[in-house]
Amino acid sequence: MAYLTLKNINKIYPNGFHAVHDFNMEAEKGEFIVFVGPSGCGKSTTLRMIAGLEDISKGDFLIDGVQANMLSPRERQVAMVFQSYALYPHMSVYDNLAFGLSLQGMDEDLIDERVQKTARILGLTEYLDRMPRALSGGQRQRVAVGRSIIRKVGIFLMDEPLSNLDAKQRVTMRSEITQIHRETGATTIYVTHDQTEAMTMADRIVVMKDGYVQQIGTPKEVYFHPANMFVAGFIGEPPMNFIAKTLLGGCIEMNGAKLDLTEKLGADAGRYEGREIVFGFRPEAVSLQEGDYAVKGTVELTEMLGDSVNVYMDIAGEKAVLKVMPHEKPALDSELTFFVPQESVYLFDAQTEQIIGR
Ligand code: ATP
Repeated sequence: MAYLTLKNINKIYPNGFHAVHDFNMEAEKGEFIVFVGPSGCGKSTTLRMIAGLEDISKGDFLIDGVQANMLSPRERQVAMVFQSYALYPHMSVYDNLAFGLSLQGMDEDLIDERVQKTARILGLTEYLDRMPRALSGGQRQRVAVGRSIIRKVGIFLMDEPLSNLDAKQRVTMRSEITQIHRETGATTIYVTHDQTEAMTMADRIVVMKDGYVQQIGTPKEVYFHPANMFVAGFIGEPPMNFIAKTLLGGCIEMNGAKLDLTEKLGADAGRYEGREIVFGFRPEAVSLQEGDYAVKGTVELTEMLGDSVNVYMDIAGEKAVLKVMPHEKPALDSELTFFVPQESVYLFDAQTEQIIGR
């Protein structure tokens, strides 16, 4: 049985705004789930309903198979880390970590043992006597995480915990949180709008848009088998290229070249004849040497990133970006032919934006 079950969960705010629609998900004990999506898609609202900070308007929430809709946050045994990690400014790191346990009336020796262990896991041992104001942003965030994991709860909820840190600190904390998760084994739900965080940390990703779940899958599944254009465009950097074309005789025309999509479309070929479809391919999936589909265009801009170069192309009025090796960097305004392997092509229904073909 799943540890967390969300069955047709809905949130309708008192002002009538329907923020979350029929959210369905199961999480196994110890899983690391990441909710990802653009601002306002309902990630935090869903997390807050799991935490018990927000009422569930409709649907069932179960913990270990037991109905939990009406349980208080404390009864749910959850710990939550927020974006703004409010530490007690007048207390040392030690006291910040110990505070929750003291409130529970825990024995001093036991508290000390837990504080020391948590500090060790988070690399905070040498800062235990410091006040929060004498810590860096990253160190403060570690104390905030420490305050949560010290309680040994079964469910660990994090809402954009790294968004106040700089890029370098974020990368470090990312791996630290993954490590802490491995050590504590707590079922974790982590909210972010950053697809890189989702891809690097999650066992499974829930991609959301406008209050609807778009897809649930492992990082590999959502990258290689996106359910629709939204997921395909949201996961991956730079995003997948999309070029809309009309299917004629099983082919689309791209800057003078005919690309035969009959095999790719399979059983869908007949249904889409004469209709608009979207040809999708990832910047990193192209080759400048060989491949099934050859496409010609003009180089408009190049961006040297060190290990790769982003090449911005104009393909008879359509725009696309390619990721190539530094030694392959083409000259500005030059004509360039690139190749897309058939297995790296994604086709979508231009109207529904759902994936089609195979
Ligand atoms: P962000 O990354 O910006 O935090 P999010 O995906 O976490 O976005 P939510 O905070 O869950 O989004 O908000 C989802 C939608 O619900 C938004 O359109 C928001 O304006 C709306 N919303 C949030 N809180 C309330 C409220 N108390 N009353 C009415 N609408 C709300």
